[in-house]
Amino acid sequence: MHNNFLYVNGDRFIEFIDKEKIQNRIKELALEISKDYKNSVPIFIGVLNGAFIFMADLLKNITIEAEVDFFKLSSYGDSKISSGQVKMIKDLNCNPNGRDIIIVEDIVDTGLSIKYIEELFQHYNPKSMKVVTLLLKPESLKYEVKIDYIGFKIPSQFVIGYGLDYQQKYRNLPSIYILSNDGVN
Ligand code: 5GP
Repeated sequence: MHNNFLYVNGDRFIEFIDKEKIQNRIKELALEISKDYKNSVPIFIGVLNGAFIFMADLLKNITIEAEVDFFKLSSYGDSKISSGQVKMIKDLNCNPNGRDIIIVEDIVDTGLSIKYIEELFQHYNPKSMKVVTLLLKPESLKYEVKIDYIGFKIPSQFVIGYGLDYQQKYRNLPSIYILSNDGVN
């Protein structure tokens, strides 16, 4: 069924969501968000590094006026396993007070990053805050978080490509690949 494999340090990755499927789903998400915010000029805030490609493709399909900003957290280091700690490395440049904020994530795994972001925004006074993520691993969630727009729900396995890295590499792959050593085939 799958013939697109990728071997990284002895780990086998399989193409899991191809680029057409990703682009089609992003168009649907962008349409939905553009409708929901038709009377507003929201600020899309991307979480670096992983979200940069999703953010760009999402924004290209947004049909309303919008602003863009980024911030950067660290949580995983170079490991495939979450360290359970989050640190702010690059802060916001915009002023979110009184604005509609849309946080753009590549993937929600345990939910720790989103939880941290929610707490961070308690120091501000935005008009509203929603979260859009391209990927969600529902079975990995450890924190109660509200995700408003979800691209794809995926199994709790490590994925790379389309912005997501393995030791900082492979972000440039246009499709999403899943680690297949533990069962997916
Ligand atoms: P969380 O805080 O929800 O546990 O994890 C969120 C962050 O962990 C993501 O923004 C991403 O950087 C990283 N992450 C979680 N799962 C994966 C994965 O399967 N692959 C990659 N490359 N990064 C992941």
